[in-house]
Amino acid sequence: CGIVGYIGTQDAKEILLKGLEKLEYRGYDSAGIAVRNGEDVRVYKEKGRIAELRKVVDSSFETSTGIGHTRWATHGVPNHDNSHPHQSESKRFTLVHNGVIENYEQLKREFLTGVTFTSDTDTEIIVQLVEYFSKQGLDTEKAFVEVLKLLHGSYALGLLDTENPDVIYVAKNKSPLLVGLGEGFNVIASDAMAMLQVTDTYVELVDGEIVLVEKEKVTIKNLDGKEIKRKPYKAEIDA
Ligand code: GLU
Repeated sequence: CGIVGYIGTQDAKEILLKGLEKLEYRGYDSAGIAVRNGEDVRVYKEKGRIAELRKVVDSSFETSTGIGHTRWATHGVPNHDNSHPHQSESKRFTLVHNGVIENYEQLKREFLTGVTFTSDTDTEIIVQLVEYFSKQGLDTEKAFVEVLKLLHGSYALGLLDTENPDVIYVAKNKSPLLVGLGEGFNVIASDAMAMLQVTDTYVELVDGEIVLVEKEKVTIKNLDGKEIKRKPYKAEIDA
């Protein structure tokens, strides 16, 4: 029921796990993170508490980029396979999602009949669709926008692409999501509280936008590709 993400130079595993702990109050039944080093993306996920997730994360894996998720199951029972992050068939794309995709069965029938699914979630169709459109020749930003236009329902999304490793692709609709700004890093979070450990400066996101979060910059665009400027604010909450 919460999302975090980090791209920068520090140890992403620890920042993500701490962030997820701060989101525990929202309730969840499973948790997971995906972290990358170059093109090597590792997914760790577990049913149950963040403390259980901590035990399966390889602490020696060096990483400074990743996304994390606490799940409140809506489609598919709480278990390992249904926990987020979810990956596309080729494992090029990795996604976390909060919310509910109402038309996921229809989209699956329409676009994804040949694809092997590994979970029972509504979420997995999103990441498989990004791969579907990228195989049609679209770059990742355009493929992601195509998918967003097809989705009905609520979502906060964080997407990694092994072929564009310096970006976290982000979007939201009816679910909360913020971008946090740092010096030499940037973050995403459902709630500023999760990332107050690293920054108190946030930018609110609006439905119908795509956001490219990189180490040194954050670019917000509408779905027609027009760049949007928005002033950050200081979060005044006790960490
Ligand atoms: N609908 C998704 C699922 O069941 C996401 C649930 C959530 O918001 O945690 O996996």
